[in-house]
Amino acid sequence: MDEDILQRSRAAFLGLALGDALGATTEFMTPAEIRKQYGIHDKICGGGWLGIKPGRVTDDTEMSLAIARALDESGGWCLRAVAENFLAWMRGRPIDIGSTVRKGIVHFLHKAELKVPPNDWDAGNGALMRIMPVCLYTLGDKGMFERCTLEQAHLTHNHPLSDAACLCVGEMVQATLLGADRFQLHALTRELTSNYPTFQFNKYRGRASGYVVETVQTVFHYFFTTGTFEECLTGVVNQGGDADTTGAVAGMLAGAFYGLDALPKRWLRRLDKEVYREIERLVPRLLELSPQDSKKSIALK
Ligand code: MN
Ligand code: MN
Repeated sequence: MDEDILQRSRAAFLGLALGDALGATTEFMTPAEIRKQYGIHDKICGGGWLGIKPGRVTDDTEMSLAIARALDESGGWCLRAVAENFLAWMRGRPIDIGSTVRKGIVHFLHKAELKVPPNDWDAGNGALMRIMPVCLYTLGDKGMFERCTLEQAHLTHNHPLSDAACLCVGEMVQATLLGADRFQLHALTRELTSNYPTFQFNKYRGRASGYVVETVQTVFHYFFTTGTFEECLTGVVNQGGDADTTGAVAGMLAGAFYGLDALPKRWLRRLDKEVYREIERLVPRLLELSPQDSKKSIALK
């Protein structure tokens, strides 16, 4: 297995969990409220509207792990296994669950269908926040990446803006794992904004809601205007709004980009130990299952 890809993949998945744990504290706050209470929020200190303990993650990381476990258990892509894991997760009374996500899982439960019908209200960020395992599992096969990305998304979110965001950010994460630079990543954002101008982020207006367009704008704004993992994530979560999810999405991208050594040790030390261990176990496993790795091992034989 390519060592650089493995390290960047670990950093991306851990980055997602760190962003989730860090942002949970400021979720649904305004930047002014955050300033008043924390000055600059840059510690994994728990609290927030969920009253979580420091280092605990929320639905963003938990659903990502649910997909990763389904891939591990099935030894490959099985959408039904993903849906079953979502259902088991919902039944375990998660600390938080989005309304569109709940509706999608209930749809699977009642109709046994693996796709929700198109819905104008499905443009939330709930499908985007959990793309990490698909990025790893499909690394090296664009067709498979697109298929799995949209299939997992449509379990709960069926909306063109959610689809476009998942495909663009997922492609950026994969490109970063393979060593893309800032300019190459910016070119990928231009493909998105030329097809869907609503995603433009050059005049960022500071809105960071759970609407997938604002989530993506917040992540891109801070990713392209900062120079370290910590700066990027701190910027994002101090914007408030859906801070754990903007944190999670920024964490994947910035984690992959800046690598393992850039993840602040004081944040990693705080991260829930079980989540940490499971990410460390699943990341190499997903890469092992990916075409990127099998191609390579075939080439080596
Ligand atoms: Mn969350
Ligand atoms: Mn959230």
